[in-house]
Amino acid sequence: MTSERKIHTLIIGAGTTGLLIAQGLKYAGLPYSLFEQETSQTYLTRPREWGMTLHWGSSHISRCLPPELEARMSETYADPTLSPDAVTGLPVYNGKTGELILEMKAERPCRVSRRKMRSLFSEGLDVQYGKEVVGIVEEGEKVRVRFKDGSEVVGDVVAGCDGARSRVRECIVGEERARLTEVPLSIFNFTQRFSREQALYLREKNPLFTKSIHPDHGTLFWLSIQDVPDPAKPETWLFQLLISWVDNPLPDSENNYAGRLAYLRKLSENWAEPWKSAGLWVKDDTKIPMDPGTYWEKASRWDNRGGKMTLCGDAAHPMTPHRGQGLNNALQDASNFVSAIQDVDSGKRSLEEAVSEYDKEVLERGVLEMQISLKQTMLIHNWQTLMASPMVKMGMHQAKKEDEDKVH
Ligand SMILES: Cc1cc2nc3c(=O)[nH]c(=O)nc-3n(C[C@H](O)[C@H](O)[C@H](O)COP(=O)(O)OP(=O)(O)OC[C@H]3O[C@@H](n4cnc5c(N)ncnc54)[C@H](O)[C@@H]3O)c2cc1C
Repeated sequence: MTSERKIHTLIIGAGTTGLLIAQGLKYAGLPYSLFEQETSQTYLTRPREWGMTLHWGSSHISRCLPPELEARMSETYADPTLSPDAVTGLPVYNGKTGELILEMKAERPCRVSRRKMRSLFSEGLDVQYGKEVVGIVEEGEKVRVRFKDGSEVVGDVVAGCDGARSRVRECIVGEERARLTEVPLSIFNFTQRFSREQALYLREKNPLFTKSIHPDHGTLFWLSIQDVPDPAKPETWLFQLLISWVDNPLPDSENNYAGRLAYLRKLSENWAEPWKSAGLWVKDDTKIPMDPGTYWEKASRWDNRGGKMTLCGDAAHPMTPHRGQGLNNALQDASNFVSAIQDVDSGKRSLEEAVSEYDKEVLERGVLEMQISLKQTMLIHNWQTLMASPMVKMGMHQAKKEDEDKVH
């Protein structure tokens, strides 16, 4: 038995999560409207670019992407010329000596570009740009969304895919409960091109990524390939550098572009190769941003107003990035959400039942991963605790209930 009318989903945020949900609903013949706060111009230029390790989450993509787009997934790879089997795990090195400490196990790990993923996933979709959500209210059996430009829209269910600082989350649970907790983490995360010789040298150790932790102060230095526009021209290759540490934040007087670059160069002097050279070769005019680490400590069951409002992706489980799980979980959220709406459409479950079941699972999985990722962040930035970290005990595989014990 099918319901008389189709459920209309209002998707807030055209990041990877929102785009994949829209693709899945469209493929299933279900109506959606997709709203993004950036304008069509700033959407392409403003979002910062970084790479993400796609591993166990890739199995959820086929649930949503039509086959013709899924067949083009390699377009999202940082280096599309590398076979997905080029590496089996993520090597972690001693930052002082260059010795391999361990290889973090992962399920077919490959590096994808955030920008390229957004580009592929947005093909064929109608994205309404310049639509910043400011409010959401229930209206009988419907839900009304208000935008900053004064316009409004009414639908059956809102999927908040608006990232870590989600406005939808604030609307559902209130600003106090939605607030993120900051951890004492400092992150430099930026991209860089090098000369031909330098670029070739930096990929000698591993074509995809190398991660090192310095035993003297526990600072992490990550180096990976981000984009290979022309395989024959290494000077066009883009690299991602991520340097992070716990405690000892830069003093305010040094927490600016010049101060961060000077700090990176000072750190790099005492690093093993190739991180030392990568750090020292960063160009003088590089504007290194400083990011904090955050997660949603107050996450607990939310009132989905009879199934009319929910959260997906970083909006549901913002986490620290050191275990590489945010995107992988977001892909599962997208797939689960689309299944839930299909169940409602086919009359299998009511909207309230389907969304409540979705919420319960996403909350349990999200809370567990936020905690394990936080543990990873805190333990790997200290040489004494590094070997007790989730990275060593459980690799990159998806966290299950029984993993809770492994990380305490
Ligand atoms: C340095 C770093 C490395 C990472 N590495 C990995 C990794 O290796 N593996 C992994 O699995 N994950 C990784 N992640 C996590 C991953 O990047 C995120 O989990 C993923 O990008 C989340 O996608 P999203 O669509 O949920 O959110 P976002 O990409 O943040 O998209 C949200 C969208 O919503 C829009 N928006 C926001 N507010 C509003 C509003 N009020 N109204 C309308 N639109 C709005 C935004 O403009 C944006 O386009 C990493 C993260 C970082 C920071």
